[in-house]
Amino acid sequence: MTESHLMDRCDCGATAGPLGLCADYYHAILAEEQADPQMYRWHTVVVCAYLLQHPPRAHAKYLDGQFRLLQLYVDKGLDALLRVAAHQVARNNHRTRSVPDARPLAGYAPLPPGEAPRCFRATFCGLPFGDGGFVADGHAEYGNRIEAIAQATVEAWRSVA
Ligand SMILES: [Zn+2]
Repeated sequence: MTESHLMDRCDCGATAGPLGLCADYYHAILAEEQADPQMYRWHTVVVCAYLLQHPPRAHAKYLDGQFRLLQLYVDKGLDALLRVAAHQVARNNHRTRSVPDARPLAGYAPLPPGEAPRCFRATFCGLPFGDGGFVADGHAEYGNRIEAIAQATVEAWRSVA
């Protein structure tokens, strides 16, 4: 065993997979889900989990809301998350320029201040990728893996609090 080269190590602590670092996996997912509405259902989860595992790539002011959304998903599931996300988009498009409705997210913990976690139990560059893309073994399995990443993300951030 040799030490991993620095280039093979993502800033979330993960070791690069066959596609590269998490950013390579993230962009491959975003491209694939554009043509697959069923896969796209996990889009918000993918974005929130990716940004919370790589906070330097995120807008700091949105991370707290993204952390709460991810907690809601882990707590209540995908349908609940989709309802809240759709509601927020609708409000943001409204002419009154009202602030996003934070009520469904108010019961969840705020993002802990300070250093981001250095290690996550499940990461994007650990995702299997085959001839059928990320959903080669079905959307349910893909969803389970995204859920595991979401759980690992919430768990790691809670542990730094
Ligand atoms: Zn990473």
